[in-house]
Amino acid sequence: MACNKCKASIRRKLADAARSAGSLAKSLASGSASTETLKARYKICEECDKTDENGKKLFRTVKGRFYCGQPRVQKLLRDSSRAGCGCPLAVKWAYKASKCPLGKW
Ligand code: SF4
Repeated sequence: MACNKCKASIRRKLADAARSAGSLAKSLASGSASTETLKARYKICEECDKTDENGKKLFRTVKGRFYCGQPRVQKLLRDSSRAGCGCPLAVKWAYKASKCPLGKW
């Protein structure tokens, strides 16, 4: 039996996962971002100094791909404002409607 604090945390993480799925669908439907936008997003992420709960930079390379935090497939439930969205950034940068979970771009 989970405590109320745990239940609230789980609810928040489930809501985050639902929001993330909605954002992904919206991004995919929005079309491609321009090359300039893609480069600007890359630069902002590369310079991003935000860290996760373990003090590790959100911007990271996992198996040769850039991610914002631990890949979501490895950690489905999360608070994106703290742990990063877990998106593969090359995909996220490429769509017009994509957004940084911390509002940096
Ligand atoms: S998407 Fe935002 S939070 Fe994530 S690495 Fe890029 S700038 Fe940082």
